[in-house]
Amino acid sequence: MTVETEKETLGFQTEITQLLNLMINSLYSNKEIFLRELISNASDASEKLRFEALSNDSLFEGDAELKIWIDFDKDAKTITIRDNGIGMSREEVIDHIGTIAKSGTQQFFKSLTGDQEKDSQLIGQFGVGFYSSFIVADKVTLITRRANLDSSEAVQWESAGEGTYSLENIDRTQRGTEIILHIKDDAGEFLSDYRLRDTIKKYSDHITFPIVMSKVTTDEEKDETIIEDEVVNAATALWTLSKSEISDEEYTEFYKHIAHDFEAPLARLHNKVEGKMEYTSLLFIPSRAPFDLWDRNQRHGLKLYVRRVFIMDDNEHLLPSYLRFVRGIIDTNDLPLNVSREILQHNKQIDSIRAGIVKKILSSLESMAKTDKYATFWKEFGKVFKEGIIDDTNNKERIAKLLRFSSTHDDNPIPVISLDDYIGRMKDGQNKIYFITAEGFAAAKNSPHLEIFRKKGIEVLLLSDQIDEWLGTHLTEFDGKNLQSITKGQLDLGDLEDEADKKEAEKATDELKPILERIKNVLNDKVKDVRVTYRLTNSPACLVADEHAMDASLERLLKSAGQSMPTSNPIIEINPQHPIIQALKDEEDETRFNDWSNILFDQALLSEGGQLEDPAEFVNRLNNMFLSLGNLSASPILTIN
Ligand code: ADP
Ligand code: MG
Repeated sequence: MTVETEKETLGFQTEITQLLNLMINSLYSNKEIFLRELISNASDASEKLRFEALSNDSLFEGDAELKIWIDFDKDAKTITIRDNGIGMSREEVIDHIGTIAKSGTQQFFKSLTGDQEKDSQLIGQFGVGFYSSFIVADKVTLITRRANLDSSEAVQWESAGEGTYSLENIDRTQRGTEIILHIKDDAGEFLSDYRLRDTIKKYSDHITFPIVMSKVTTDEEKDETIIEDEVVNAATALWTLSKSEISDEEYTEFYKHIAHDFEAPLARLHNKVEGKMEYTSLLFIPSRAPFDLWDRNQRHGLKLYVRRVFIMDDNEHLLPSYLRFVRGIIDTNDLPLNVSREILQHNKQIDSIRAGIVKKILSSLESMAKTDKYATFWKEFGKVFKEGIIDDTNNKERIAKLLRFSSTHDDNPIPVISLDDYIGRMKDGQNKIYFITAEGFAAAKNSPHLEIFRKKGIEVLLLSDQIDEWLGTHLTEFDGKNLQSITKGQLDLGDLEDEADKKEAEKATDELKPILERIKNVLNDKVKDVRVTYRLTNSPACLVADEHAMDASLERLLKSAGQSMPTSNPIIEINPQHPIIQALKDEEDETRFNDWSNILFDQALLSEGGQLEDPAEFVNRLNNMFLSLGNLSASPILTIN
């Protein structure tokens, strides 16, 4: 590798300039977080060095005592944050400081609203990191040398945060990174020993490395000034302390540090497991979903420590994917320090730690479910949590109990009803849990399939998340009761069935036989069968899936996801009481009968949120019908602008 020595000026990625502007404008009321962010980076760099040194001791360069130093100079108006961690090479500075490599960056920018309040929340979630320096500084100088690189390969980076930065090689024997903040006039309050110590205590007490400030005293006798190093923070791993020794504030600050969150978490779980397996877990459930919850490459997750040494981030083996919103750390004594991702994949200890953590999280959610907080949890993470029904068959029953739904009980779009609530309200003689899935809450709530259920006062769960299609096929039973989609198969109300209704339908079937045949002939390519139903009270027709066929909306979902599969035609059910059906009995004009049959089918499809194959044709037919009603020609001409 050739070493650049020339001083060069480079441009920031446009996103960074954008981010800088946003940050400075939306975080000015919370300036002090710059210190937390820079200390957090220094701590990360020290952990990284300690980890890399496990397999290459020479990286310590004879100095294994890792610390973070904070200094300030009131006259020069500077604050310096220094570490003897891993440091950065020139390339790394360009990669890490000049670009945002974070996954989901694009998504982050897309989610910005322009509303400062909301955007500052987002910035918090994104992690403000190194650039938060510019909240208090109008110029930042970063000097760094990566462990084991020659002293001549040290680098100096400098920027005023306005689109460009300069980079040059310098000579530096000290390993690690030093960041000099040239403090703006309106941030002068931080050029104070008291203010800095206070901020460190507040945000960074839990950092496991000593954070050192110099303490100046005078020896009266000798009339000498003595400068001593003084450790400001507690410098112990928070999770190693017992719960009673940790305050809520300390837990919260620790959470914010590891989760890059601005808000306090919704719940925390701190456990020490002893016995055959020994590990400590400190886990948190955030109060807000991160903007990249749905990004498969998102890097959050649990941090793995082995005997207090940080090993790796976002370990996907420690948490099943449906709990991917949980943040925290696991520290175990039972794994070797040189454990790799590959080893973790097939590791019995990891499997048992994971099973243990899942149980803890489920218990915590079970307690939370008794409080108001659960609504927040469900709003933020319910859709992800539902994946557990499919992913985690071992805990299916517990997960099912934690699910929340909307239902016809109150038509509330906010899902607050549990399966137990539903069962508690079941009618005498009802032995099934009825649900409907549709694309969107309104489509579910207004579905014609619900007519008979509403009439009889039988509650139906209204499912309208994408995942619900899968849920419906995986959660077939709860507490000894079958879950039944009301858009599938013959209507079966069990003991709730009205014999009179049934008789009526049978009678109507006989009576309407010729019409059923005629409709079937017309819709031959579109439906599997035509039959009479008593599930409808207002609508003339609806579509149902065959008992064994896939649910219609699941089929649409798969198709929209690009899956090709044989189409299974639905069954069209008609309401014998409906005037249109009654009128069809006497319809002799074949073309008109044809149009009516097609309109019935298209309407039924539309009302369950489906898409017409030929919308223009539908509109034509409808207009023909209107025209055939006569008199339209006498009406004034409708103009639409
Ligand atoms: P994050 O810490 O979330 O990665 P930051 O903006 O805080 O984001 O930091 C960006 C990157 O810059 C870090 O990931 C790291 O690679 C590098 N970095 C920042 N500060 C230091 C430091 N003190 N020592 C070594 N590398 C650092
Ligand atoms: Mg950082």
